Amino acid sequence: MSQTISDNKVVTIDYVLRNAAGEELDKSDPDAPMLYLHGGHNIVPGLERQLLGKTIGDEVVAVVPPAEGYGEPDPRLKPMRVPKSSFPKDAALRKGMQFMTKTEQGMVPLWVIKVQGPTVIVSGEHPLTGVELHFTVKVIDIRDATEVELAHGHVHGPGGHHHGEEE
Ligand code: ZN
Repeated sequence: MSQTISDNKVVTIDYVLRNAAGEELDKSDPDAPMLYLHGGHNIVPGLERQLLGKTIGDEVVAVVPPAEGYGEPDPRLKPMRVPKSSFPKDAALRKGMQFMTKTEQGMVPLWVIKVQGPTVIVSGEHPLTGVELHFTVKVIDIRDATEVELAHGHVHGPGGHHHGEEE
């Protein structure tokens, strides 16, 4: 029974993400590989496209340009300075942290660029915007998604979503 990666499969991967200079930006936890729903836009489009048709045990080196990754920088999005006091007291503010904020356009994500004394510098752009992504991926497992996972558009169970009481 050989499985290949296609839409509506739940795929388990180990990955390392580097930039064009070879610096490591991110990687999966060796004790808890990442699971994603193929075709569910859970991962960046360029990586999803390059994993299509792969099978268990395959090692894939995928170079993803910004346009198929986190997008090109938007010059209209300028970093903003926000007083630390406008965050919840227990918020663990650190570089790269993502949070949601309410605007006239609805809820939008913001990322912390820097904490500077009483001021937090935030940006509306993902920290990997404009970055060419170099993934090294090992395909660990492939299974069919359940109906509930397809309806939700994400993976459930270990390595996936755990719905709390808020949902
Ligand atoms: Zn769900």
